[in-house]
Amino acid sequence: MTAASVPDLPRSGLPFSFELYPPRGAAAAAALTHTIDTLAAAGPEFISVTYGANGSSRTSSLDVLRYILTETTVDPMAHLTCVGSSHAEASRLIREFLDAGVNSFLALRGDAPAGLAEGEGYLGDLRSAGELVQLIHRVQAERVPYRESPVPGQPGARTLHTERAKVRIAVAAFPNGHPRSRSTTQDIDTLLAKQAAGANLAITQLFFHADHYLSFIQRARHAGVEFPILPGIMPATSPARLRRILQLSGEELPSELAIELDVEPTVEGQRDIGIRHAARLATQLIDGGAPGLHLYAFNEHDTVLHVLRRSGALPADSPIVQQVKESA
Ligand code: FAD
Repeated sequence: MTAASVPDLPRSGLPFSFELYPPRGAAAAAALTHTIDTLAAAGPEFISVTYGANGSSRTSSLDVLRYILTETTVDPMAHLTCVGSSHAEASRLIREFLDAGVNSFLALRGDAPAGLAEGEGYLGDLRSAGELVQLIHRVQAERVPYRESPVPGQPGARTLHTERAKVRIAVAAFPNGHPRSRSTTQDIDTLLAKQAAGANLAITQLFFHADHYLSFIQRARHAGVEFPILPGIMPATSPARLRRILQLSGEELPSELAIELDVEPTVEGQRDIGIRHAARLATQLIDGGAPGLHLYAFNEHDTVLHVLRRSGALPADSPIVQQVKESA
């Protein structure tokens, strides 16, 4: 079956979001603005921007977040990690993001930077994603201790509210377990700890089979995890990309997809296979009740928009659908 034969199904209205990484170099930065404009036109719930190990991408991440904030109507989400900063530095960074207008975060523990082994003290003062979640809430509370609103009929009078503007704090979840966790129970316990710390959303590591996500959700709900858990979908559009994805995530090789990609000789054909697999996964997740879809875009708009169109997640009347159809 070719990708073109996957039907458009009436699944529009489901929220979706994208992940981008900060560009490396001026040419990549210019290309990324076009990608952001196109992705934003599709109407995502948010666009998240990764944060390099050891804060290496602090400025470029903030530049991308500012672009999303000022040039689109989409909510930017900043990834933050515990790697390499003191408590005071992390607080300053969070405040800088909040002051820039960023109100959504993905709080992560982060991995050891290249060359450093686990346990070499790479984390800094914050030891877990949960502590980072708490710190974001604390910094926001200090920054905006209360909210004011006008009193109807009394010009100039203001009422003080102690509840603050909400920040969205997402955390990572691992349907197939984190490569370093001792058991899947540990992964669920970690998620519960993140919920207790104040997280209100989770985004999963990529996976290749809908069952892995759906059974993880069942276990998480059974254990008491209440916030929405968005499935992370990464289209593998070439054998090289698939290898890289597996290397980064520690996921097992999806043999059917790997074989299809290996035997397909053309770049276009491989891309088509990747889109078809990702769209089928998205369709199964929607049918299984996923609260939305989070797509790892690899700083390209075309592939992820095709995945959304073919899974029916993009509204049929969205102008971007026509654009994607024309370029298909
Ligand atoms: P935790 O919540 O602390 O851990 C998750 C699970 O793994 C728990 O079960 C925990 O016990 C176990 N675990 C984690 N580390 C260890 C360890 N060292 N020893 C034993 N058990 C351990 N990284 C970046 O640097 N920048 C990014 O922008 C970024 N974005 C990401 C986006 C998503 C959606 C995901 C899923 C991951 C992302 N990562 C990113 C990678 C992430 O930092 C790593 O996977 C990290 O190892 C775990 O982060 P966490 O916040 O889930 O950690």
